[in-house]
Amino acid sequence: MASPLCIRGGRVLDPARGIDRVQDLWIVDGKIAGLGEDAPADVRSNRSAEVLAVQGAVICPGLVDIHVHLREPGQEEKETIDSGTRAAARGGFTTVACMPNTDPPLDDRPRIEYVIRRARECGHARVHPIAAVTRGQMGEALTEIEELVEAGAVAISDDGKPVRNAEIMRRALELTRPLGVPVIQHAEDPDLKGDGVMHEGWTSTRLGMKGIPDAAESVIVARDALLAELTGGHVHVAHVSAGRSTEIIRRAKARGIRMTAETAPHYLLLTDEAVEGFDPRTKMSPPLRSAKDREALLEAVVDGTIDCLATDHAPHTDFEKDSDFDSAPFGIVGLETALGIYVKALVEPKLLTLPELILRLTVNPLRVLGLPGGTLEAGVPADVTVFDPSRRWKVRAEEFASMGRNTPFQGWELPGQVLMTVLNGRVTFRAETLLASAR
Ligand SMILES: [Zn+2]
Repeated sequence: MASPLCIRGGRVLDPARGIDRVQDLWIVDGKIAGLGEDAPADVRSNRSAEVLAVQGAVICPGLVDIHVHLREPGQEEKETIDSGTRAAARGGFTTVACMPNTDPPLDDRPRIEYVIRRARECGHARVHPIAAVTRGQMGEALTEIEELVEAGAVAISDDGKPVRNAEIMRRALELTRPLGVPVIQHAEDPDLKGDGVMHEGWTSTRLGMKGIPDAAESVIVARDALLAELTGGHVHVAHVSAGRSTEIIRRAKARGIRMTAETAPHYLLLTDEAVEGFDPRTKMSPPLRSAKDREALLEAVVDGTIDCLATDHAPHTDFEKDSDFDSAPFGIVGLETALGIYVKALVEPKLLTLPELILRLTVNPLRVLGLPGGTLEAGVPADVTVFDPSRRWKVRAEEFASMGRNTPFQGWELPGQVLMTVLNGRVTFRAETLLASAR
């Protein structure tokens, strides 16, 4: 037996099993050994055990992000698998699913295998690649979906842009259905989007900016709900931003259609008014929407219409983001601020309890992808996150592990500081404030 690790005195939250109590968590040989007295006696009495005292903190299953952009291969000036997964660990995430809009896109077996191999070498997080729906993400010819899933892809998506052609979407849903993987849709009609750069509304009019109507998103969501019903396939809607989309998803679910959804942190805290200063760090796709949309999103997260809380971590270089608003690329980073923002947007106003938040950050995204895990049951790989929900910290982009510094939250005080992240029993991140003590 290797030296056990004991995380002592925290509030253990394992919502999948209904556990919420102050207890020690024991880890040995990369696996959860048990909680408190349930851990084997020889583990608890092991004199070489390392003990970490985390009174006041939450101990929960490792967080899961269903939507990140790791940029490798091809855009290593923005992010690499190494830097992106170090950012994940620093943000409390042990598992991420990465989008295929790399350069070239993840549309063949060797590239899927490369991402998996490279992520294993880095060892900071579990990485599940999402394969492209169409070759080169050009929207024309389907990829070899079955082969890509066999190689390890957990979903397919042309994220960055939508699957525009309804017939291709239909066939993608038919082909993925027997494979049990979802088609993840970046719902944004390219014609309605046009060359818009922000939400179409009073603010865009006032600022004289080209707008993107909320219908650009919702028409694709409505179309895909119909195609999911037609095929029996599973559509997962990425980064929902519009209130109207939540109504469609809610109705689709009520009809038994296989539709799931996620949103991203910024849509729950910011509105289109944040664009007022023309900071390109408030430019993302889909755009920040109205206060009414934000209210509807919060409601949809609370009632479960939106299943998962993702990040849409989209790193860009400072050089790209320092240009003017119109020409800057869409997207912001999210891995290292997501937990704090979700605690601030959902838990502090008492919209969700901590166990409810953790479900949406662990079990729910794993379920969408058909993956196991998300609990602290004895015997499972020890993927664990420790954070202090009330401890406040300041966002300093210059300290990010991500190569992307493009955040609109620079300088914000957020709750929910991550103290430690454990992957397979190995500490992948530890806050400087958390000191080890031998017993
Ligand atoms: Zn997207």
